[in-house]
Amino acid sequence: VFHSLSEVIMRYSKFASATAVSIALSFLAGRSSAFAQNRVRTELPFPDLPGYVTLKCDLHTHTVFSDGAVWPTVRVEEAWRDGLDAIALSDHIEYQPHKADVSTNYGRSHAVGRVTGEQLGIIVIRAAEITRGEPPGHLNALFLKSIDPLRTSNYVDALQAAVDQGAFIFWNHPGWKQPENKSVWYAEQGESYDKGWLKGLEVVNGDRYDPIVHQWCVDKKLTMLANSDVHGPITWDHDASEENHRPLTLVFATERSAEAIKEALFARRTVLFAGRQLIGEEQFLKPLFERALEVKTRLVRIKGKGRVAVQIANRSPVSFELQPVGRSEEVSLPRKITLHASKTSLIELTGRGSGAAGKRALVLPFRVTNLKTTPEETLAVELKLEAEFLE
Ligand SMILES: [Zn+2]
Ligand SMILES: [Zn+2]
Repeated sequence: VFHSLSEVIMRYSKFASATAVSIALSFLAGRSSAFAQNRVRTELPFPDLPGYVTLKCDLHTHTVFSDGAVWPTVRVEEAWRDGLDAIALSDHIEYQPHKADVSTNYGRSHAVGRVTGEQLGIIVIRAAEITRGEPPGHLNALFLKSIDPLRTSNYVDALQAAVDQGAFIFWNHPGWKQPENKSVWYAEQGESYDKGWLKGLEVVNGDRYDPIVHQWCVDKKLTMLANSDVHGPITWDHDASEENHRPLTLVFATERSAEAIKEALFARRTVLFAGRQLIGEEQFLKPLFERALEVKTRLVRIKGKGRVAVQIANRSPVSFELQPVGRSEEVSLPRKITLHASKTSLIELTGRGSGAAGKRALVLPFRVTNLKTTPEETLAVELKLEAEFLE
């Protein structure tokens, strides 16, 4: 298409002034790029937390340099399109099914992907998946300086080589290949944990949330991770532009850099964004929730048993599902409230006509049912409104 357009310009240029040609060129260039403009980024506007920037990370992905089906540059542009800040290219060390066609140089996927990362502003982390039978299963080592020393017959030596480089190590998809997909904490994990080598666990791998692993993270104080473990093109599994984002780990870092992500992972400052849920500790979920909201109705005026509508904006990419806790003496509430992602919702309150007239704060306790603090518990929050009760 573009070729024929330039032919048109060439013919036109014989009869027109240079100025007219340049106008036509810029017009046609604009038109053609408008037609081809499908390289867009779906932003995920999570708020920052006090003292930290919220970085969206996928720390487990594959390329053709192991058993993935895409070139590293494609993997990195997918991350840009999906609104991420950082991605780890974590090709298998011990499983290289494309070795007849693709280099087995372990650093190559990162070296190739990093160039695209620099162009697009995506942090590309050099990583590897230590791939053994169960136990110990598969472990990811992030922030490696060199992957070669991890190629050893004994997995303990591979972990030692990663630890020697200051790598962050987590156990991937613990339930995989286990009876009924039930995760088992083996002696091998216990040894790595006791040595202080094993620092994190994949609570979410692809579409699978593992409540057993979530509880381990709570009990053993390990870092929680949610990763895609993508092998094919990401849109085969997840399409961020269709509100079907990949699972990702929100990392609360002191700045936007690989070094700061590493520090935050060791310090366990993560929340997981998986499907329509956020999973993490209350200390991070609560400010994330509060900073995402803006009560747009400054003053709620309630007359007797009348109804009023309160406008609440949710600037985050997650819809919050709220259920009131207990019964308010002053107003009645819907049993379920959804604060829609990136929208302003109208919430209807009805006066009970019981209290005295006057202005006062209305504090309404809720549970956010899609924000999980443990496998069984959800986040407790309060919505505070300024109310004026009229006679
Ligand atoms: Zn694996
Ligand atoms: Zn993997």
